[in-house]
Amino acid sequence: MTQSGTIFLVGAGPGDPDLLTLRAARLIERAEIIVHDGLVDPAILALARPDAELISVAKKRARHTLPQNDINALLIREARKGRDVIRLKGGDPLVFGRGGEEAEDARAAGIAVEIVPGISAANGAAAAAQIALTHRDASSIVSFVAGQCKGLSDQNWSGLAGKGRTLVIYMGVKTAPQIAEKLMGDGLAPDVPVAIIENAARPHMRVVRGLLAGLPQLVTDNAIKSPALIVIGDVTAREDHLIAQTAVEAAE
Ligand code: SAH
Repeated sequence: MTQSGTIFLVGAGPGDPDLLTLRAARLIERAEIIVHDGLVDPAILALARPDAELISVAKKRARHTLPQNDINALLIREARKGRDVIRLKGGDPLVFGRGGEEAEDARAAGIAVEIVPGISAANGAAAAAQIALTHRDASSIVSFVAGQCKGLSDQNWSGLAGKGRTLVIYMGVKTAPQIAEKLMGDGLAPDVPVAIIENAARPHMRVVRGLLAGLPQLVTDNAIKSPALIVIGDVTAREDHLIAQTAVEAAE
């Protein structure tokens, strides 16, 4: 019987190939087969060998090209052929990436799994926009939440945002109005500063800032598209940011 290969769940970071770990870069460069999702930047896939088999299982909100179970089955099937499978995922594979489910199914099938961490969008976006998620003067807690429609009203975010806290919302562009309403319903002041970082660590990155009550308007006025992160809290509006932003606007 052929010895099964290993399934490597590899984080591709927020987009810029320079933000891959060395281990991720080495695995991509020597891979025979890479199964990747839609968030992985083409510049990263370009590191693969010309003869590598690249399989996209791109998932767009409300348009699943390949159901999760089929992805898990595909990984297991390929590993059983005796080759190592690189499962490349945007950001970190274990942050809102369904990496946990893929690893569980692979382990249940008796396939070895290795996980290579990546820079999650929150960390990549914070660095690119120079937002100190836990600036000592403004925040001592940072939370990551998922803002997609499904289950939004069931999620308990109370206490995650407000004075001394930073809330980072993944997948929240489409549901920005419900998010603003939910947070204000939980008692958050309408004038809490917010920032949206679109395409962090990629070409055409944009950072826009405003206040919680104006979040839906900020999304529509700037035609913000996924992938984007919403950051809520005082750390998004340090005085030096506002001075820097005004200087940029004045120069335009
Ligand atoms: N595992 C990924 C997250 C997958 S969920 C990670 O750790 O980053 C997908 C969401 O991540 C997107 O809807 C968006 O909110 C965020 N995201 C991913 N890449 C991004 C980028 N380059 N800029 C801004 N947000 C990004």
